[in-house]
Amino acid sequence: MSFSLPVMRPLLPTRRALAPYLRRIDHNRWYSNMGPLAQELALRLGHHHGAPALPLANATVGLTAALLAHDLPPGGRCLMPSWSFAATAQAARMAGLTPFFCDVAPEHGQLTPQLAEQSLATAAGPVVAVMPVCPFGHPVDWLGWQDFRRRHSVAVIIDAAAAFDTVQASEIPAVVSLHATKALGAGEGGYALCRDEELLRRMVRVINFGMDESRQSVTLGGNGKLSEYHAAVALAGLDHWPQRRRRLATLLGRLRRAVGDFAHWPAGLGDAYVTSTACVGFADSWAMEQALRDHGIETRRWWSGPLHRHPAFADGQQLPITEHLAATTLGLPCWIGMGRTEITALAQALAHVNHDRPATR
Ligand SMILES: *Cc1c(COP(=O)(O)O)cnc(C)c1O
Repeated sequence: MSFSLPVMRPLLPTRRALAPYLRRIDHNRWYSNMGPLAQELALRLGHHHGAPALPLANATVGLTAALLAHDLPPGGRCLMPSWSFAATAQAARMAGLTPFFCDVAPEHGQLTPQLAEQSLATAAGPVVAVMPVCPFGHPVDWLGWQDFRRRHSVAVIIDAAAAFDTVQASEIPAVVSLHATKALGAGEGGYALCRDEELLRRMVRVINFGMDESRQSVTLGGNGKLSEYHAAVALAGLDHWPQRRRRLATLLGRLRRAVGDFAHWPAGLGDAYVTSTACVGFADSWAMEQALRDHGIETRRWWSGPLHRHPAFADGQQLPITEHLAATTLGLPCWIGMGRTEITALAQALAHVNHDRPATR
C-alpha cells in the first residue's frame, strides 16, 4: 500500500556538503581502518560530548563489542528491558550471553537502576551484565547508572542508539547509532562514548578481529570498523547539526501542538531534547493505526512489539508495563521537510477519528 504521508523520509548530507570530505578521501587513498576521517570523527564527537569516542560500523556491533570487551562468562544473563529494539537482545546473544528481560518504569518506559537492583535480587541465576536503553532517544539516569556500576560487580552498557542529542558520557560505555533513521545519520555507523579509556582500547581490539598492536589475534573479535566514506557523511552531518537540531525541535513542537490533544506526548520530546521519531501513546493504538492508514497516513511500531514476544527471544514472561506500552505506542510521521500541510492533514485525520471519543491518555 502506498501512503500519501510516509512515516519517515531520512535526510542525510547532500553531495555538496560531502564534497570536501570525499576530496580528502581521494587524496588520502585510505578507506577504512581508523583512517584520517574516522580519527577526525572520533575527535569531533569527543569534543561534542566531552569524552573519548570510538567510531563503529553500527550500534549493534558496538553493543556486542562493549559486552565482549568485558570478557564475561559465556551464557551469563544480560539484564535488559523487553521494551527495546531487537538489536539490544541480538547484541547480547552475539556476545555469547542470554538476554534476561525485565519490565520498565511506566513514566518513561525505561529500566532504572532501582528496577535493575530488584531484578538482580530475584534472578534465578547470576546476572553478568545490564543493558539499559534510552527509549526512542529519551535520556536515562546516566549518573544513577554509573553509581549502580560502582555498587555491583556487573558490566553496564547503555543502548543509547537513538540518543545522539541526550547521551552523557560517564565511566560506563554508551553506544549511539548513526543509522539513516536516527537523529544524526551517516547511512550506517555508530560510536561508543566512555570515560574509561582502557575499556575503549579493549573495544578497539574487539572491532578489529581481536588483534592487538602486533596484529596478533589475542581475543574474540570481528569487524566493526567505520569506513572513511561513512565517517565523511557523519562529519558533514556534524557540521550542520545545530541547524538540523533546530529543524527537528521546530518539527517536534509543531507535531506536539497538532496531536497533543489526542495522544500522550513523551515528556521533554521537542523541548528538552530532540530525536528523529515521534513515538506517542494512544489508548487504542491498533484502531488508530488502522484509521490513519485509511487516511493514507503511515505509522510504525518502531520496535515491533516487546522483545520477550519476538520468536527469537520468547520466554513466556508477563511484563505488564512493557505490554501496555507496546499496545499503546505508535510512531507518527516525523521527518525534516514535513510542512504545515502534512501536519494539518495528520491533525485532521486524528480529529476525524476522535470526534466521538474522549481524549486518550
Ligand atoms: C537503532 C537502534 C539500534 C540499532 O542501531 P544500528 O546502528 O542500526 O545497529 C539498537 N538499539 C536501539 C534502541 C535502536 O533504536
